[in-house]
Amino acid sequence: MATAPEHFDVLIIGAGLSGIDAAHHLQKFCPRKSYVILEQRERIGGTWDLFRYPGIRSDSDMLTMGYSFRPWRSPKTISPGEDIREYITATARDEGIDRNIRFRHQIKRAEWSSETATWTVEAVKQSSGTDKNDICEEQVILTCNFLFCCAGYYRYSAGHLPEFPNSSRFKGQMIHPQAWPTEVSASGKTLDGLDYVGKRVVVIGSGATAVTLVPAMAKTAAHVTMLQRSPTYVISAPEKDRIANFLRHIMPAMWAYRLSRWKNVGFMTYIYQLSQRFPNFVKKGIIKKASKQLGTDFDVDTHFTPRYRPWEQRMCLIPDADMFEAIKSGRASVVTDQIETFTEKGIQLKSGKVLEADIIVTATGLAMQAFGGMELTVDKQRVDPSQVLAYKGVMMSGVPNFASVFGYINASWTLKADLICNYVCRLLNFMDRKGVRQVTPNSVGESPAAPFVENFSSGYIQRALASWPKQGQKKPWRVYQNYFRDTITLKWTRVDDEGLDFSNPVATSPQQSVKPAKDKQLATSN
Ligand SMILES: Cc1cc2nc3c(=O)[nH]c(=O)nc-3n(C[C@H](O)[C@H](O)[C@H](O)COP(=O)(O)OP(=O)(O)OC[C@H]3O[C@@H](n4cnc5c(N)ncnc54)[C@H](O)[C@@H]3O)c2cc1C
Repeated sequence: MATAPEHFDVLIIGAGLSGIDAAHHLQKFCPRKSYVILEQRERIGGTWDLFRYPGIRSDSDMLTMGYSFRPWRSPKTISPGEDIREYITATARDEGIDRNIRFRHQIKRAEWSSETATWTVEAVKQSSGTDKNDICEEQVILTCNFLFCCAGYYRYSAGHLPEFPNSSRFKGQMIHPQAWPTEVSASGKTLDGLDYVGKRVVVIGSGATAVTLVPAMAKTAAHVTMLQRSPTYVISAPEKDRIANFLRHIMPAMWAYRLSRWKNVGFMTYIYQLSQRFPNFVKKGIIKKASKQLGTDFDVDTHFTPRYRPWEQRMCLIPDADMFEAIKSGRASVVTDQIETFTEKGIQLKSGKVLEADIIVTATGLAMQAFGGMELTVDKQRVDPSQVLAYKGVMMSGVPNFASVFGYINASWTLKADLICNYVCRLLNFMDRKGVRQVTPNSVGESPAAPFVENFSSGYIQRALASWPKQGQKKPWRVYQNYFRDTITLKWTRVDDEGLDFSNPVATSPQQSVKPAKDKQLATSN
């Protein structure tokens, strides 16, 4: 006789920054709920475990990117990736969350049944065979009442790589930052596996990854050239926050953290709002600062004056002007041009200039992916994410007992992740009090009015928006990029608003109480 699949109240997908945040909130606010985290990788950390390129670091401050409940204690607030990974891992260890993680489990699909009010989740578990290089795969089925997707927002298997003309002709090494070669030391530490000492490097791209890589590689490479099609806003900020570090000396760590966090939330919100209202004023200020740091001889107009308004794309933060210092030292340079073709020795540009290289790094970005690439089915109907409306930016119309984390793009991701985790716990506790097993966002009367992310022209977002859920016209179908508005919407507003249907009472027989998802926004594809 087949045994019933293992069951949990909540199943969390992903053990990155958000997955650990979700587990913390569940343990604290829903202590009687059982939960499990399924993680496709071998370690905790998500982004901060995957990306291993030289210099990998945050580009927002850790006082707002850290968890609200755990002080960031390092003096560096623009922090190395390794420290962020250690912070997430330590949180999981100290709270006993790591005992609930099942590694090397990749979720492929999840099927909701209104009859049983459960999700049936199918994962593929990988394990090593007898030979170390053998990988065995096995199907694992679990069930849960609530599915909490903390799978990030991009494809893990490969980044975005545009087709460059004749790229196969290049005889040197070509590397994407998402697949940086690594080596494991005798002590188990992951080390940089690429030898670029004394070599000529061209980094294609102008985003956060490129501006991180250039100064880091320039320390030992013969020369590093950043090749960009068009410029990005690059702003220098101190690596260490002097006010936060001072406060930590004179008061308990948690108080100092909270004060510094609010200081930075306030400052970021102010700058963002100023950019929206007075874009030319902010643009002038940023460019003036870059000019001052690069020196009067540098052509800031060509290389650091973007064609778009501030915050129309994510701004690049550089610690202590390291990128500008690398340029001033002559070890790095910027070329703003377009690629005509790859050659055996490097890249020929449209201007006729040739960039010779031993190594080309394609810092060309991420490939966005919704819900960890898994397939969702509700009462045998396949969910097409592009056809649903996002409820408060957290749930999807017509998809019961499902929430996901998508953080801010104009501020630290964790600020919103914390609010969403808190909201999900409120929702679960409300359902328990009400004695229902099912909650379904119902968008009847509402229609798609905007993409999931608005007024943001970054390539990786524009490439993906068509396949992502849409926003409606009014609350609660709007997705905010504003911490204060979200605090009101997710933390201080009643859970049972008109956008949610609560159904499937606990006490009665499931057969009688079934109320299938009635939302018309669920598109079928099979
Ligand atoms: C290079 C880089 C730098 C960044 N810098 C910043 C920054 O400075 N500030 C900021 O706020 N944000 C930054 N971000 C955004 C960043 O992704 C978030 O800060 C944060 O790490 C997201 O955490 P997460 O847990 O939601 O997602 P992730 O870190 O992506 O973790 C998702 C986890 O889910 C797992 N997973 C995915 N799909 C499945 C599946 N189907 N089955 C099982 N497991 C699955 C993944 O393996 C991963 O462990 C950066 C992103 C990148 C790529």
